[in-house]
Amino acid sequence: MAVELSFSKEIENIMYASHGKPIKDCLQCGTCSGSCPAVEFMDNSPREIIGLISADFKKEVLASNTYWTCASCYHCSVRCPAGIDIADMMYALKRYSMWKGEFQEGLIGPEFSESFVKMIVNSGRSFEPLLAATYLPKFSARDIVQEGLMATGLVLSGKMPLLPKKVKRLKNLQRMVRRIIPIGETK
Ligand code: SF4
Ligand code: SF4
Repeated sequence: MAVELSFSKEIENIMYASHGKPIKDCLQCGTCSGSCPAVEFMDNSPREIIGLISADFKKEVLASNTYWTCASCYHCSVRCPAGIDIADMMYALKRYSMWKGEFQEGLIGPEFSESFVKMIVNSGRSFEPLLAATYLPKFSARDIVQEGLMATGLVLSGKMPLLPKKVKRLKNLQRMVRRIIPIGETK
C-alpha cells in the first residue's frame, strides 16, 4: 500500500541531493531572515517558511511569494549555524510548486520558469527576446520602450542574436531533461 508522505517529508526528499543538513535541524534562530536582502519583499521570512514546512502547512507555503522572491544570493546558507542550505530549499519549493501547479496568482516567477525550461528543452539554449515576452505584459509602456531600445542596442552590437539557435544533438538533451522535469509537453 502506498504511503502518503507529509509535506515536510516531500520537501526533504526533493532536497535529498543537497549537501546541506535537513530542515528539521533548524534552530529557528532567525539568522537567515536577518541576512536576507530580499526579506522585505517576502510574505514570510526564510525562518517562517522553514517553520511552516516543518509544521506541514503546505497550503500556506504554496500561497507564499517567499521562494519566488529569493534572489539566490546564498547569504542565508552560508550563515546558518545549523548548516541548512536554505537557498537550495527555495529552489526545491519552486520545483514542488511547479509540479503541483500551485502558486500565488500574479507572480512572474512561475510563468517565467516554465517558459525558460520549455525554451531549453526546445532549443538547448536561452533566447532572451522570447523570454522577455513572458514578463513584458507586467511592465509599463515606458519600461517596454526602454527594454526595446536596450534589446536593439544588444542586437546591433552583436551581443544578442536576432534569431534563436539550437544546440547539436538536441534529441539527447530533450530525453535527458524530460526524465528529470515533469513539466508537461513542449511545443
Ligand atoms: S539560520 Fe538556519 S537555524 Fe537559523 S532559523 Fe535560519 S534555517 Fe533555522
Ligand atoms: S538566498 Fe534567498 S532566502 Fe537566502 S538570503 Fe539570499 S535572497 Fe534571502
